[in-house]
Amino acid sequence: MKIVHFKYNDLENIYGYLDEQSGNILVIEDGKVKDKPIPINEVKILPVSMPTKIVAVGLNYKDHAMEMDKPLPEEPLIFLKPSSAVIAHKEKIIKPEISKRVDYEGELAVVIGRKCKNVEVEEAKEYILGYTCFNDVTARDLQQKDIQYTRAKSFDTFAPVGPWIENDVDPTNLEIKTYVNDRVVQHSNTSNMKFNVFFLVSYISKIMTLMPGDIIATGTPAGVGPLMSGDIVKVEIEGIGILENEVV
Ligand code: MG
Repeated sequence: MKIVHFKYNDLENIYGYLDEQSGNILVIEDGKVKDKPIPINEVKILPVSMPTKIVAVGLNYKDHAMEMDKPLPEEPLIFLKPSSAVIAHKEKIIKPEISKRVDYEGELAVVIGRKCKNVEVEEAKEYILGYTCFNDVTARDLQQKDIQYTRAKSFDTFAPVGPWIENDVDPTNLEIKTYVNDRVVQHSNTSNMKFNVFFLVSYISKIMTLMPGDIIATGTPAGVGPLMSGDIVKVEIEGIGILENEVV
């Protein structure tokens, strides 16, 4: 099921289910489907959640580690992106003037459903609301200059996420593609991750408490590259959908 967070006319902050057959969103109120379906093309899609934090994973695909000329980490390499960087499907990625090289990184994201701390790999699934597409936009020149990732990963608009949350896919075997202006620039499968999503949720929960709505960006495959002003970047994940953003 696809859970959509959206705004429609005066109605702010609404959640509903996308009926893919009709292209309508069904709004649930008091446990019942509200009578009037809303066409998806008439709403403004909002970010899937308001995370207290975004935990991102570096070098989780072997081919990407090779292109960055780095060994695969023995344990997940994690860093944080601020929630102020979040933008929704169709919102614009703004290139900061200070960077000469801003890259896309298409990633599968996990959205946490229940507060979790110290969970084991086998229980991790119970704490996951679902999955969505994520673009870990990165100022590559600043990442290479700084030792810490914070500046390079944290500019406003550097965390496009969406378009919605899918709660019924197997996150360990999904095709993932990134397109720039409709040209495929990244293509892999989530089965190529070194650490799968259940391992990551467990591992991270043993470091910090994960809250409902928190996002885990699970790493990018090979093929990272630059974004230019005017580019349309899309992250497509099998069974989930397509996250699209323009660069300005
Ligand atoms: Mg990344």
